[in-house]
Amino acid sequence: MIRMSEVGKVYPGGVAALTSVTMRVDAGELVGIVGPSGSGKSTMLHLLGALDRPSTGAVHILGHDVGALPDRSLAALRSRTIGFVFQQFHLAPGMSALDNVADGLLYRGLRRRDRRERAEHALQRVGLHHRLRHRPHEMSGGERQRVAIARAIVGEPAVLLADEPTGNLDSVAGAAVMEILHGLHAAGSTVVIITHDREIAAGLPRCLHMRDGRLAES
Ligand code: ADP
Repeated sequence: MIRMSEVGKVYPGGVAALTSVTMRVDAGELVGIVGPSGSGKSTMLHLLGALDRPSTGAVHILGHDVGALPDRSLAALRSRTIGFVFQQFHLAPGMSALDNVADGLLYRGLRRRDRRERAEHALQRVGLHHRLRHRPHEMSGGERQRVAIARAIVGEPAVLLADEPTGNLDSVAGAAVMEILHGLHAAGSTVVIITHDREIAAGLPRCLHMRDGRLAES
């Protein structure tokens, strides 16, 4: 699904954020990328999500060499392949949960009715069938994050990439969000979770531990 070979990332100014990272994520896996602040997790997220290219080495997503793709192809690969979930939810404030999720399909060439039908199904999958018409400010943080997960999965991406998905939630809501991510994995989805939370990491079947831009798998 995703392969990194000897990947290095150097930011302008000479900061080496990643050094010689080799890893792979196979279809159907649930993998955590874990490490303290500054260890290179966000840089990994950018590369795994085709948001950026490596400085050295290669990143392959579904067989596509990310470093060799022009911007437009990279954006197309990203929108077809990756579903993103962020710590800050990033929902449109004035819109219902249903429309927020349906907007995840805007560029798929589907009719509005089909988009909404699929959105409703995605919201069911995260247990929010009773919140379709609610707008973000009418929902709890945990519910907002579940809407964001529904939006990320509505297009059936090959990989779901979650960046500190429980970072803004209390422990009960965070546990509910983790349960949903585990459920998606159990149903066959490929899920990568970036976290500095050791408790969450401990519950994952496999973790890649980052330190100073390097990987130590365990
Ligand atoms: P984490 O997400 O684990 O906190 P990052 O990937 O954000 O780690 O950062 C890894 C290293 O790269 C840090 O030393 C950070 O300061 C540096 N870094 C991250 N982004 C940039 C950037 N855009 N420009 C320069 N340095 C950066």
